[in-house]
Amino acid sequence: MPLYLDDEFIETFVYEEVAVALWAIHLHVEDVAVTPTLALRLIQQYLQPLIPPEHWHVLNQKQPVTWNRIWMICSELGFLLGRINDPLLFEVRIAIELIHSHTTLPPREYTIATVIEVTYFLSMCGQLKIPVQGQIRLGDGQRVDPFSFCTLCWRQPFPGRKLCAHHAPSTPLQGEVDTQAAAARYKSGVRQKGQFDKAVNRILTKEVTEFHEGLFTPVVLLPKQGIAAWVAERRPLLWQLLGERQQEFNDGNAVGMLLELLHSPDGLPPKARQIYRLINQHLHEYPLLIWPMLIRAEGWHRCREEVRGQWGGKRSGAGRPVQPAIEPSATSPCTDQQPGAARGCVDHEFQ
Ligand SMILES: [Zn+2]
Repeated sequence: MPLYLDDEFIETFVYEEVAVALWAIHLHVEDVAVTPTLALRLIQQYLQPLIPPEHWHVLNQKQPVTWNRIWMICSELGFLLGRINDPLLFEVRIAIELIHSHTTLPPREYTIATVIEVTYFLSMCGQLKIPVQGQIRLGDGQRVDPFSFCTLCWRQPFPGRKLCAHHAPSTPLQGEVDTQAAAARYKSGVRQKGQFDKAVNRILTKEVTEFHEGLFTPVVLLPKQGIAAWVAERRPLLWQLLGERQQEFNDGNAVGMLLELLHSPDGLPPKARQIYRLINQHLHEYPLLIWPMLIRAEGWHRCREEVRGQWGGKRSGAGRPVQPAIEPSATSPCTDQQPGAARGCVDHEFQ
């Protein structure tokens, strides 16, 4: 089996040399089955040069090489990272983990990550020895993954798809008469995707570096107490979006209020509504797991602010009429349909 990774996924690496190595491996195995022996050889060829020579022995696995031995390399690098702070080595470890998991479909278990912030999140939980309850099994044997995200935002995608109910171009939300607004949300999301990924990555890099430099002591993950102060400091735009609700926000209702803000099932098509409810219930039970959603949502709003800033400059004195079909609706306080966003999208579209 080749290496099943989207180009976009590879591009999310902070260190270009790791992305380039993964690219090379990706091309190398395009049409061949990846055996554990081949995987190790490629790791040694492309990723080993990125590891300090004194740690190369980690890659010398005994024969026969098995997938479990490849996994052992990840564990040993994880152990090493517990002692030294090396963000590049951190990403090399993630790359090896991806080679382990994504050379088969569905991915090999041990990891359920689909986006890099989830991989980092799981890794930080691992370093803090926090167990993660990452999958929801339904009665009929189906699984829902709370770490699956729409590629354009922080919401859960439709089953088997890459886009959520807000971004699927042919899915009108409640109260919308046709698909025009949905198509506009989709286009706007695609247009800002590069900037969105970068915004998330900036927060991620900052926090992961802080976590490592502080030898795992900084409160980078969602705390059990003092959640309001944590959100205000680390997710300031989400905190701002809470508006007056900040007053009643406390450790007991924090996750509920954040989910109401970001992941409300109201106004969604029935099949999306059911999955949102399941995910929200799971996050209520395991509050820590809301972290990847929060980092994506904060990144999305940062990116949206930057985009608005750019449009603000461009638009002065050159306003185009707003298209009535893309007027804001009242489905959620933070969809792409915020007044400025909708106007900007239309203006930009016809400029
Ligand atoms: Zn979305």
